[in-house]
Amino acid sequence: MFRSLDDVLTLMVVAGIICGIVSGAIAWEKHRSVFGWLVFGFFFSGLGLVAISVIPKNAKTCPKCGELSTYGTGTCEYCGYVFYVPKDKPDRPKEFITDEE
Ligand SMILES: [Zn+2]
Repeated sequence: MFRSLDDVLTLMVVAGIICGIVSGAIAWEKHRSVFGWLVFGFFFSGLGLVAISVIPKNAKTCPKCGELSTYGTGTCEYCGYVFYVPKDKPDRPKEFITDEE
């Protein structure tokens, strides 16, 4: 099937690029690092795809507008609803504490 090592390497690179792009796309959907998963998918091909498929979403549903926002942002990316007070901003009023992170 493979005539030389070059053919095997070419196939691995092509498979890596495809898996990298798909992994990056899934990572985007799950609010995770797109570039990180693109690289991971490239080097680990199928394993990267499986990993990003089973990993949970790095996002929470906004109770106000129902959209998904990335963990750690503190506020809804769509309507500005405040989830919790970030640790680096302890000066925010206590009444804005609505959820635990
Ligand atoms: Zn919202």
